[in-house]
Order: sequence, then C-alpha cells, then structure tokens
Amino acid sequence: MKITFPHMGNVYIAGKAFFEELGQEVIPPPISSRKTLEMGTKYSQETICLPLKIMIGNFIESIENGADTILLTGSCGPCRYGYYSVLEKNILMDLGYDVDFIVLDPIGEGLRDLKGNIYKIFKATNIKDVITAGKIGWKLIKKADYITDLSNRKRAYAINSYEVDLILDNYLKEVEQTFGEKEMMDLMDETIVSLNKVKLKDNFTPIKIGIIGEIYTVIEPFVNLEIEKKLGHMGVLVEKSLTPTIWVEHHIKSYPFGSKLENIKHELARPYLKTLVGGHGRETVGSAIYYANRGFDGVIQLLPLNCMPEIVAKSILNSVSDDLKFPIMTLILDEMTGEAGYMTRLEAFVDLLARRREESLYG
Ligand code: SF4
Repeated sequence: MKITFPHMGNVYIAGKAFFEELGQEVIPPPISSRKTLEMGTKYSQETICLPLKIMIGNFIESIENGADTILLTGSCGPCRYGYYSVLEKNILMDLGYDVDFIVLDPIGEGLRDLKGNIYKIFKATNIKDVITAGKIGWKLIKKADYITDLSNRKRAYAINSYEVDLILDNYLKEVEQTFGEKEMMDLMDETIVSLNKVKLKDNFTPIKIGIIGEIYTVIEPFVNLEIEKKLGHMGVLVEKSLTPTIWVEHHIKSYPFGSKLENIKHELARPYLKTLVGGHGRETVGSAIYYANRGFDGVIQLLPLNCMPEIVAKSILNSVSDDLKFPIMTLILDEMTGEAGYMTRLEAFVDLLARRREESLYG
C-alpha cells in the first residue's frame, strides 16, 4: 500500500512523518502548482468547487509518483464534500487510474467501517496502538501549525520580513530529506529556533486581520494565493480561523462535545444563524464576530466560487459588518483568479483599516 492524500497546507509535513513512523509507504502529494490546478480543472466538472479540482490534480501527480491508495476524510451535512470521494473515484477511474480509496467518515456515520480503516492505516492491532499513533499524529500536527502561526507573527513584526520566507523555504526543502517522527520534530525545532532569531521592530503595533471562510482555501497557500505571506509583508498580523489543529481539536479530540473555541463561535453566530449550513459556514459567521470582539481591525472571508455554505455566510456577514461596524472583505477564488487584482484588493483593504485606526486614535 503506497498512501497519498490531498495537499492542504502543512498537513503533508505531519502526514509524511506520521505514516513513515507507522511503517507505511507514503507518497506525499507534491506541493500544489499551476500544473496541479490545470490538470484538476481539465478533468473535473466545470461548476464543481475549487478544492475538488485541486485534489484531482494532487491525486494524479501522486499516482504518477507511485501512489496506489488515497486517504481522505469524509463528511456529512449539506456540503459537496460528502460526495468528494465518490466523484473523485469516478473521475480517476474514467482516466484509467485504478486506486483504492480509504475514506475516514465522521464517527456519526457508523463506527465499524471507520474502525476498520483506522486500524488498517495505523497498522494497529489493538486500541493501544491506535492511541499511540494518534498521539504521534497530534504532536506533529500541532508543531507544524505552530511553525505556520509563528511565521505569521514574525513576518508582521520583522525588520526584514523576507528573512522569515527564507527560513520557511529552507524548512520545506529539508522536509523532503527527513524520515519519521524524530527527524521531523528535530527539523521543526531547528526551524523554530531560527524563526525566533529574526530581528523585530520596536514599538510597532501591526494591523490585525482574521482570515475566515472555507477550510481548504484558508489552509492551502496555493489556493489562497499565499494571503498570509502577502499580508505579512505589508506588516499585517494574520490569524487564521481554521487550522488542522483547530479541526482535529474540534472533530476528533473533543468528540462528541466539540472544542471550546468552536463552540464559542457557534454561540456567537447563533443570533444570525441557528443551524448548520454545511462546510464551515456557521463558523465563518461566528469567527467574524469572534475577531471583532478580540479587537482585530478586520477580517477577510475566503470563498471558493460555487461554495454554498460560504455564499450563505457571505450574505450574513453584511449584517455582521453593519451591526458591529467591523470591516469584512470577501475574496472569491477560482481557477481564473488573477494575482494582480487580488493584490490590489488586499492593499486597498489594509489601507482602509490603517485609515480607520488613525481616525479612531486621532479623531
Ligand atoms: S465547503 Fe464549499 S468549497 Fe468546500 S467542499 Fe463544501 S461546497 Fe465545496
């Protein structure tokens, strides 16, 4: 079994080390690129949401590198993600690729299949093995996310923000040379030390922006046109409402009650949206209010074209913005999104937030 999975931000870093540690052969998905998107767009339905197109491109690239098994999480509720595995399997079969799909459906969809799949990919023979493997995965995911968050914080305050990019580029290159948990943890620790050596500006209070919206577009830099980097180089402190750590904490570690943070967001969203609308639509609304309450200057919603849950959230965010007098910008992303127009909108939004801040300070 040669396992691969979709490329989604830093997940592949933790995933690679995790499966290697468990003795699985893993073919990490290559970093998403224009070629990935073009292939995915060519073989997917035109109107399907963007994440599926990228995933198809990811899978083809991984299969061509030798992968024969695709690992995917499942979903339920009113969002296309629940059909992704079926659609993807059919697309790949039509293209002549004969691969196995292992879908980890939510616990509520039935424990038997999920248990069998987990034991298979974790190479577990008993629950103790599952817990041990889970602990390794959790440590790796948390540290990979810590590095992403630390980079965002350092970039905003750095005297030379490109120093952060250099450290990260080096880290990503080295990831390919590591094997297993220990080597990856050592590399991560070295990267954290380097990031902490970056020289920072004194007496600087950056503009603070929360990134909210559809999970895949929030986490995957190729899809969101590296929004964290772009804003960081403008001296903006960026925080993302969704990360792999936040997802695992809510859906796995705190099952069935959910994490404290996500439950707070559900409560905040309640006056505007009482029900689940699929994907992270409800969390998007709650996160906007959460960032407003925490004194952020504004939020940016990332919306992949044709994403129903985020379209619902967008219509509600207009009221949130009016009620709280809180700037919210929506960026719609698809395969046609151009870098220049995107950058112009980001710069204009940051200028607006900077002016608002000045006005509030000096009247
Ligand atoms: S949340 Fe939106 S973009 Fe993501 S799978 Fe569901 S419909 Fe598609």
